[in-house]
Amino acid sequence: MEECIFCKIVSGEVSSMKVYEDEYTLAFMDIAGDVDGHILVIPKEHCKNILDCNYHVLNDIMNTVKKIAEHLVENCRYDGVNILNASDESAGQSVPHFHIHIIPRRNNDGIDAWPVFEGANCEIEEIYRKIKMDEC
Ligand code: AMP
Ligand code: ZN
Repeated sequence: MEECIFCKIVSGEVSSMKVYEDEYTLAFMDIAGDVDGHILVIPKEHCKNILDCNYHVLNDIMNTVKKIAEHLVENCRYDGVNILNASDESAGQSVPHFHIHIIPRRNNDGIDAWPVFEGANCEIEEIYRKIKMDEC
């Protein structure tokens, strides 16, 4: 994808602070400057998001997410991580190349990485009937 900023990072046309790289994935620092240690994990092959990627790509990305999470806890004195993803503009995706955000966490660090929702509009049973899959 010629105009994709993350494809340009993969090709080296745009520089990045690489945290980890293997044959299929790349992890680099998010430049938002919004929270300490914000990392993005991407597939090297362009796909837009979880709705667009195949299972191999997803497997590669999640393996890398796990590797980095373990590295942060085992070697960097963090206690845990938040893993965040927006798939589609409706969900807030701003860069259309699949990426998982990793936010390193320490006990009592005061970071609020969980959305505070305003409350459901419908009864849970009503939504459940609509979204339940045939398999169960
Ligand atoms: P999202 O809104 O979930 O699509 O997240 C896109 C993320 O990409 C944001 O957190 C941006 O700060 C980050 N971002 C955009 N351009 C770059 C770049 N050149 N290098 C690193 N992070 C970037
Ligand atoms: Zn791309």
